[in-house]
Amino acid sequence: MRFITIILALFSINLWAGSDGLRVEPQYWWVGMQSPKLQLMIHGDNIGQYQVKVEQSKLELVAVHRVDNPNYLFLDLLIKPDADTGESTMYFSHDTLPDKHYRYHLRKRQPDSAKRVGFNNSDVIYLITPDRFANGDASNDHIEGMHPDTDITELGMRHGGDIQGIIDNLDYIKKMGFSAIWICPMLESNQVNYSYHGYAITDYYKIDPRYGHNRDYHSLVWHAKQKGIKVIMDQVANHAGKNHWWSNDLPSPDWYHHSDKANKPITNHKRTVLADPYTTASEKRAFSDGWFVERMPDLNQQNPFLANYLIQNSIWWIEYSGIQGIRQDTLSYPDPKFMNEWSKRIMAEYPNFNLVGEEWSVNPAITSRWQRGKHNLDGFESHFPSVMDFPNQQAFIEALNKPKPAWGSSFDGSYEMLANDFLYPDPFNLVTFMDNHDMPRIYDQLKGDDGLFKMAMVYLYTLRGIPQVYYGTEINLAYPENPHDHGGLRIDMPGGWPEHKQNAFTGEGLTAKQNQAKTLIKTLNHYRTSTPALQNGKLYHFAPQNEIYVMFRQDQHTTVMSIFNKNEQATELDLSRFYEIIGDKQSAIDIISAKPFDFTKGKLTLPAKDALMLEIN
Ligand code: CA
Repeated sequence: MRFITIILALFSINLWAGSDGLRVEPQYWWVGMQSPKLQLMIHGDNIGQYQVKVEQSKLELVAVHRVDNPNYLFLDLLIKPDADTGESTMYFSHDTLPDKHYRYHLRKRQPDSAKRVGFNNSDVIYLITPDRFANGDASNDHIEGMHPDTDITELGMRHGGDIQGIIDNLDYIKKMGFSAIWICPMLESNQVNYSYHGYAITDYYKIDPRYGHNRDYHSLVWHAKQKGIKVIMDQVANHAGKNHWWSNDLPSPDWYHHSDKANKPITNHKRTVLADPYTTASEKRAFSDGWFVERMPDLNQQNPFLANYLIQNSIWWIEYSGIQGIRQDTLSYPDPKFMNEWSKRIMAEYPNFNLVGEEWSVNPAITSRWQRGKHNLDGFESHFPSVMDFPNQQAFIEALNKPKPAWGSSFDGSYEMLANDFLYPDPFNLVTFMDNHDMPRIYDQLKGDDGLFKMAMVYLYTLRGIPQVYYGTEINLAYPENPHDHGGLRIDMPGGWPEHKQNAFTGEGLTAKQNQAKTLIKTLNHYRTSTPALQNGKLYHFAPQNEIYVMFRQDQHTTVMSIFNKNEQATELDLSRFYEIIGDKQSAIDIISAKPFDFTKGKLTLPAKDALMLEIN
């Protein structure tokens, strides 16, 4: 362990060595990328008034761009595919001001970096809110100048969770059977008000020191990889934090939308306008250019320098840290042409990578517009391999919470929603979930009903796509006092702090129900990740009848039958409707309870308000 730490420490060079007060981003780059182009943003006093020369052996200076603010320069460079790694010096000269120079570093890529395989439907993703997961290093809890401070008694303050806390619990995550982690943003988010969630980024190239350093993030990805766990980075291209370092010295007035206005217009949040044939240009602008909230300035990705900056920043993190995927926040809010260029350039660099976008719409006609391969009638084409499946999340929760209707089944809405999969080019690559960091926890959504909770989980693991589980769901974590409070739905993981009496990681102090939930999730994880039928197998479902919904996953080796029974009493299920899929198989075993089921009598007795996941033999 110590040896690795030393290697990693050597790996991180002193970024500001020989910088002459210049901030250069990206701070280094790699030889042999698919695109030889690189655009540097250089920030320094009056640097825009300097002449530039670059040592030509490795880097070719193609163009120098000056912008409204004289404190910036943008340099277009070409990196020859056979360029040596190492330093090239950039010289900045001025008639009256002192000369400056910067030694720019080109690195060697990791072997097979471009071929890395992104998260996919062989994975189950564990979603972590890093400030609330585990405090592995109390020494970074209070850092001067960083806001808000750490106070675990306040839901809106920092709680001290960090990268070390995640590294310490990778074995737990692996034992539980998760094969990927999506961690909410860990980049610097230094804002007084309610910024522990990480979505108000104040430095796109720096891990927040409350979590650790860049090298710690690199180390986390490395450790996870050793354990077979993929890491998905959460990125935000739509907005920055108000305290971003460039906020008081913007490269140009159009860097932020509405930077000239005292009162910033807030977005209308109407995600449909991008597809609406009857909308107007001003309505579209109100959606795309409005600020998300007053403390998060809206980035103008139509500014080509900012667009390049954000795209290169994403590629930099992939290449630097070794991650296997990106989750892009608020997918539809940035300029759509930019978002497509972003996804296109990343997928060109890493053809087997995966990107999942958050388009929080429960209408699959809207979410499906964003998946790669969809030929929308208005010509809009995205390059995101995956999007979040909000429509089926909502539809299934509604089905569970709905009383039995006078006519039909409470499952009908969910059953019909899933039929909309014909809208997606690749429904098997959607990320599926029952809750996330922005909605009440699943146990609260289902009002603490254990039978419904089990149904939600069995559904999630039966459904096509890539299941994602929010941290703490495995122990029924909930906040019934106020389920919609954002601090509440991101409460601390029990055991992540020394003062906790319960410990999810060790099992100490957990109730019988919590242990039951933990066993359920662990069983489903291991079964799903070892059963190709649940990953790539065909999906079949039958029209719900008598408050019972039946789904199948099937490949040439395995048939899995999941049955959801909402009746409050044990119920008989006639199997004759399902012979088309079951064939002549005679028995099955419930993978959750390990109980055998006999198919020869043509009917099953289903336990009351329960879900089964039967492997049919
Ligand atoms: Ca800490």
